[in-house]
Amino acid sequence: LFQLSQPLFFIGSVFREVRQSLLDMEQTFGLLDRKPSLSDDGKSLYDPSAMGTDITLENVKFSYPGGAARSILNGVNLEIKGGKTVALVGSSGCGKSTILRLLYRFYDPTNDDGTISVGSQRLSDLKIDSLRRSIAVVPQDTVLFHESIGYNIHYGNLDSPWEDVIDAAKKAKIHDTIMSFPDGYDTVVGERGLKLSGGEKQRVAIARAIMKDADIILCDEPTSSLDSMTETDIMNNIKQLGKNRTTIIIAHRLSTIQDCDEIICLHEGTVVERGTHEELLRQNGRYNDLLKMQNSS
Ligand code: ATP
Repeated sequence: LFQLSQPLFFIGSVFREVRQSLLDMEQTFGLLDRKPSLSDDGKSLYDPSAMGTDITLENVKFSYPGGAARSILNGVNLEIKGGKTVALVGSSGCGKSTILRLLYRFYDPTNDDGTISVGSQRLSDLKIDSLRRSIAVVPQDTVLFHESIGYNIHYGNLDSPWEDVIDAAKKAKIHDTIMSFPDGYDTVVGERGLKLSGGEKQRVAIARAIMKDADIILCDEPTSSLDSMTETDIMNNIKQLGKNRTTIIIAHRLSTIQDCDEIICLHEGTVVERGTHEELLRQNGRYNDLLKMQNSS
């Protein structure tokens, strides 16, 4: 039996890894159909206690492959201190998600002298797997497996005990909702199962991220489908999750990120302003323009 169980165990873990990376890809900003265009030459494993969790971008330029060489990032310089929560803001198409895709290493900077580092380590020196294990993504629209809701949450870290699933669901404030489903945690969700609302899906994503217990959180704030109370509540959850972790939130609604440690304002592929909400208000520049535009729409 032991001899038989070894290959089965191996196949199971390979399946699990393939599925995990597919899910990560799929979830990370709708990139399922796009293969990463880079090689996994890095040798180092990410070790936050030795390397730190600051994130640094230096002179990062980027154009999408086949994107008619249109320049999306035009020399981004950015330092995010480990453990802080920052918001990326800017008009639609200015490159916010692109920065997160580069951090998750779907792509590398187009210019040779553009570097991205986490702690003291360049991303390109890290094994991609190791990097991605240390990053949890809370996407706008979470992809659910056609499986039980419990499994969908457990998926954040299948090696952790079942009690952690319930704990994560409670922290993400979805436990009570799950208990009201016909089969509780065994209720099958997804396209052909019980359909979850936008807010519930977002909470599943948060619960998964809690399970993953990653040092870095990348979050794409939902643009629609949530009423403003749910939205505020979910953003508070995300900020709670981001405590003592390096967290980057792409913010579409500026009202939800005013208390972030820092707000980074992008325009035409570069950082044009950064500071706290109050500091940016005083500067009366691009951030203020964005606020005015949002308030008048
Ligand atoms: P939004 O707030 O609307 O989500 P964003 O600031 O996150 O926008 P990005 O998704 O980073 O914007 O996109 C920046 C630009 O790059 C956009 O003009 C977009 O059309 C373009 N772009 C995104 N993905 C690709 C791709 N795979 N190939 C070519 N162009 C792309």
